[in-house]
Parts: sequence; structure tokens; C-alpha cells
Amino acid sequence: MNIAVVGTGYVGLVTGACFAEFGMHVTCVDKIEEKVRDLKTGRMPIYEPGLEEMVERNVKQGRLVFTTDLAAAVEQSLVIFIAVGTPPDGTGAADLTFVREVALAVARSLNEYKVVVTKSTVPMGTGSMIRKLIEENRKSPVAFSVASNPEFLREGAAVEDFMRPNRVVIGTEDPQASAILKDLYRPLYLFETPFVITDVVTAEMVKYASNAFLATKISFINEMANLCDLIGADVHDVARGMGLDNRIGGKFLHPGPGFGGSCFPKDTAAVAQIARNQGYRLRIVEAVIDVNDEQIGRVIGKVREVAGDPKGKTAALLGLSFKPNTDDIREAPPIRIIEVLQGWEMKIRAYDPVAMEPARKILKDVTFAKNEYDAAEGADVLIVATEWNQFRQLDLGRLKKLLKRPAVVDLRNIYEPSEMKRLGFNYRCVGRPGIDVSKG
Ligand code: NAD
Repeated sequence: MNIAVVGTGYVGLVTGACFAEFGMHVTCVDKIEEKVRDLKTGRMPIYEPGLEEMVERNVKQGRLVFTTDLAAAVEQSLVIFIAVGTPPDGTGAADLTFVREVALAVARSLNEYKVVVTKSTVPMGTGSMIRKLIEENRKSPVAFSVASNPEFLREGAAVEDFMRPNRVVIGTEDPQASAILKDLYRPLYLFETPFVITDVVTAEMVKYASNAFLATKISFINEMANLCDLIGADVHDVARGMGLDNRIGGKFLHPGPGFGGSCFPKDTAAVAQIARNQGYRLRIVEAVIDVNDEQIGRVIGKVREVAGDPKGKTAALLGLSFKPNTDDIREAPPIRIIEVLQGWEMKIRAYDPVAMEPARKILKDVTFAKNEYDAAEGADVLIVATEWNQFRQLDLGRLKKLLKRPAVVDLRNIYEPSEMKRLGFNYRCVGRPGIDVSKG
């Protein structure tokens, strides 16, 4: 089967490579020429574990090609996945400009029956909008189907998630499209992946409901962590005590500086906006957004606790991406943290294993360090902003010697407070009793 995937970002490139791995012939399309040129020469535009090897293998075996020619890709394909960005438009709603662009291009190149599938996260009703756009702009009355197949992969584990998803959601009113998409995903039947087959608008809603719920868990545990901070309880034990209850589950109960990334902030804002447009308020989701907006301001106050007046002092920041194993810095808490610290007139030395290149493009007056120890050298406080595994294994004794003062603010709770005390750090984390050696 020939398929086209439009948009070669975190979702499109992974989708294209994984379908090629399933044995499909995949044309990945992007409108950015430089990106396509790089992909053709084997250069990845993003960091995603396991992706480069998979792309290389499938290109070599002739199942995966890259192009900017959307019209040709549409003409040759039975299924067209739309995997372009749907960023916030300023009011919180999803901006569908790119989705419309692709739908129009599909309409103009519709030469025989096709299934047009949204993989991008799109507001409920987008499938109907695409159907109308294609009907109004196709050159002749060629049949086509519209479907929704939302994507649930996690950046940093995207290939694994795509190849072994918890579920596949397919939304379409058309039995022919449903059969084609089930066929496309047939390799996943081997792993007994559950399929949710529903209509387009419901599939679109599943994605928003899922992300809103995951964001809710994060804001919930952050509120519990903030309360733990006030009363001296340990949020790790609270989360474990809660999470062992099967009805609750232990995942997404990790406190920190709040959620970021390209999905949760925009998807919670979009679903709240969709509800308001219907005259209904999603009060839980709105509260989740409010709690998240305040969380950085709350936890960053710990820097003052260990470093005193921050003006003119230096912070060493470990981590720039919104989570480990990705170079994605969109809405990343560390970037917002840097803005706050710079507002306090602090100097910043930052290190991230893969996200320094994109960060350089948007940050000013930041010294990018060679490694964690280089970042720490001469700094007044060390801040753990992203929980990369390699930060867990640092030589803390060496770090202490490099820092001007032994102050650590661990916003991801990767160190043990008792160990930090033993080493003589002034240590703060989130929702666990901090250790202040000056107070004994
Ligand atoms: P991205 O910004 O990384 O990639 C989007 C790509 O689409 C870009 O390369 C852009 O150049 C390309 N594009 C835009 N308009 C185009 C056009 N007209 N023709 C060809 N290419 C075009 O975005 P992403 O993170 O991959 O997200 C894509 C969608 O998937 C979004 O709706 C997002 O909400 C959703 N999603 C993202 C994730 C994630 O973890 N990133 C997970 C699930 C769903």
C-alpha cells in the first residue's frame, strides 16, 4: 500500500518511518525544503531515540522517500495522513491553517479514491471541515473518505510508542476507510493492540480528553506537592501510596515545575476554548491550566531560599528540553525558568545533552556549557530542570567542589534528600522536606 504522510515533525516522521517498517511504501512530505534535503541525506531534523536507524534502514530498502511535492505524493497514495502542526492561535484555539493548506492541496490533486486521515491533534469538527473543503475544491467528483486517527506517542519514546501503542483509535463513518486503516495497522494485531473504532468527531475528542486527563494528573500531584511543602510531608510517598491503588495508577504522579511541551499546554487551552464556544466551561481543565501557570513561579522561589538575593548571582541549569530524551523545547519549563531567573538579573550557565542547538536559537545571554560540571563551575546554585538519566549519575562531590556555594534546587526530585544532606548541600526539591545544612 502506498501512503503519504504530510508534515515530517515529531509525529509525521515517526509515523512515516514506522509505517515503512510495517512494509508500506511511504512518501513523507514537508514544505520546508531544507528539512527534506537533510532527510534525503540522512540528517535527522529532530532527536528521537531509535528513529535515525529506522529511517536509514527503510530508505535503503526503498520503502521510505522524502519530498516537498505534495501533489505527486497525493496522486500516488491511497491513504494521506495529515501530521502538520496545530499550534495555538493566540486565543487558545488550535490554528488550523496548515491542516487547511494540506486539505486544499489534497482536493486539487484528487485523481482517484483516497482516505484522508488527520493524525494532527485537531478540534472536534475538523474532519467535517476537511470533507467540505475537499468536496468544494476537487476538480471532478472523485470519491474520498475522511478519517481521524489521533496519535498518542510520547516524545522521547515515540518509536516504541508507535510500534507498541496502548491502543489505536480510528474514527470514520465510512466502512471502506475503516477497512483500509485496519489493514494498514494489521501488524499491530500481532501484539493484540486494542482498537477503538468510532466516528470522526468522537476520535477527535478522545485525543483532547486523554491529554486533558494526563495534564490533570500532573497539576493534581503538583498541588499535593505544594501542600506537602507547607506541612512537611513527602509527596513521593503520597504518590506511591495513591498510585498503588489500581483505580488511580502510579503514572503521571511526578511533581515538578509543571507540564510543558508542544501538546499539553496547547491541547488543554484548545479543549477549554472548544467548550467555551459551546457555551460550556470545562472547569477542571481551566483549573489545571491555572495551577500549571503558577507552578513555575512557586517552585522557582526555592532558588532564593538557598542562594539568597539572586541579583548578579549565577545559576547552573541542567536540562533545557521539556522532558528527557528529546530536543523539543516548545513550552519547555526550563526555558520559562531561565526567563524568570534573567528577570532577577541572574547569569545563566546551561547544559542539555541534545537540546542546546534549538535553545541557542531562542535564548539570549546564556552560556552553554560543555557538560554538567562545566555548567556548575563557579555557579551560586545548581538547578535540575529536566530529569535526564545522566543527571542522576553525577559525581555530586565533584559538583560541590565546582559550585561557589553548595546549593541545589532539584525541580525533578532526582536526588535523595538524605544523601544531599550527607554531602553537605543546601538542597531543595518539590514536595519533599528540603535540607538546609546551615540550619543543622
Ligand atoms: P512539528 O511542528 O514537529 O511538525 C509539523 C511539520 O509539518 C513541520 O515540519 C512543518 O514544516 C510541516 N508542515 C506544516 N504545514 C505543511 C504543509 N502545508 N505541507 C507540508 N508540511 C507542512 O509538529 P509535531 O510535534 O509533529 O505535531 C504535529 C501534530 O501532531 C500536532 O497537531 C500535534 O498536536 C500532534 N501530536 C504531537 C505529538 C508530539 O509529541 N509532538 C504527539 C501526539 C500528537
